[in-house]
Amino acid sequence: MITIAGAGLAGLACAHELLARGLPVTVYDRAEEIGAASASRYAGGMLAPWCERESAEEEVITLGCRALDWWARITPVHRRGTLVVAPRRDRAELRRFARRTRGFRDLDAAEITDLEPELAGRFDAGLFFDREAHLDPRRALRDLARAVAARGGEIRLGTAAPAGVDLDCTGISAPLTDLRAVRGEMAVLRSAEIRITRTLRLLHPRTPIYLVPRGEGIYMLGATMVESDHDGPPTLRALMELLGAAFALAPGFAEAEVIETGAGLRPAFPDNLPRLDWRDGTLFLNGLYRHGFLLAPAMAEAAADKIMEMRHGNPREFRTA
Ligand SMILES: Cc1cc2nc3c(=O)[nH]c(=O)nc-3n(C[C@H](O)[C@H](O)[C@H](O)COP(=O)(O)OP(=O)(O)OC[C@H]3O[C@@H](n4cnc5c(N)ncnc54)[C@H](O)[C@@H]3O)c2cc1C
Repeated sequence: MITIAGAGLAGLACAHELLARGLPVTVYDRAEEIGAASASRYAGGMLAPWCERESAEEEVITLGCRALDWWARITPVHRRGTLVVAPRRDRAELRRFARRTRGFRDLDAAEITDLEPELAGRFDAGLFFDREAHLDPRRALRDLARAVAARGGEIRLGTAAPAGVDLDCTGISAPLTDLRAVRGEMAVLRSAEIRITRTLRLLHPRTPIYLVPRGEGIYMLGATMVESDHDGPPTLRALMELLGAAFALAPGFAEAEVIETGAGLRPAFPDNLPRLDWRDGTLFLNGLYRHGFLLAPAMAEAAADKIMEMRHGNPREFRTA
């Protein structure tokens, strides 16, 4: 039996991969409900490796490309691409974004309107990353937990992990000294009038904002890379930026209802890349930063392979029988 601390993205993805290799698992999470205390609760659910290359390492593309098919076997994945736009005065931001990324085509105003009629007349130029996708993060985590249970994995909710688990996937709570929290704030809007079907990114020199459609008139807005471990509600400034961006994208959002606001802490190492660490017989998977949905599948495969290797190669370093 492999024991895993944390039924967030990393823990459940690892459980899934270990079960696929024939190893039984028990996953512990101190939250009473799947996802209730996971950073993914506030996530956009963007599967956007080409856009993320703007500020991330090449590994995010190489490892992240695999995530779309992996998630599609577990939960609905909406392959609608990402549309990146900037107000006319911030055109330089669009060119800067284009220089730092690839896998897009340039769009003019008419092409933007063809893709998203709601943006008609608002933007002269945009970039379209047609291979990108999005999913609903809360549903995805629940579907992943169901897939783990269907394969025979045990998930114990409301139960802190015992000492000395085989795999530690406790995100920002993990006892790793160089782990830091990168706060992300979000708001959820409901509008019966607005119809947007793909992820939009609105570039801005200070805070780029993204909007992800959840279906049925629900839209998630997210932003900011504030380096803080403050775990309280969003600030007025953050909400003003988020809501102002929604209005800049489509003025019809002025009549939308704000149905939720929140803030989550993304676990990150100094290089913003995830990693696997052995310490005292426990394998730690952490540092998924803002790429949990994108990188958890590849990292979980690597973690499961490592555990198989340890079981077969060096059983004394591995705690369980
Ligand atoms: C605002 C925001 C937007 C984001 N947008 C995206 C996005 O668009 N695309 C993307 O790919 N990623 C996104 N992310 C990142 C993604 O959500 C995180 O990378 C991911 O959730 C980290 O996964 P994790 O499993 O390491 O941690 P978590 O998902 O936080 O899971 C850790 C789990 O461990 C449990 N736990 C902690 N301590 C214990 C213990 N002692 N015993 C038992 N259980 C314990 C917690 O209850 C929790 O369930 C976003 C994050 C935020 C905050």
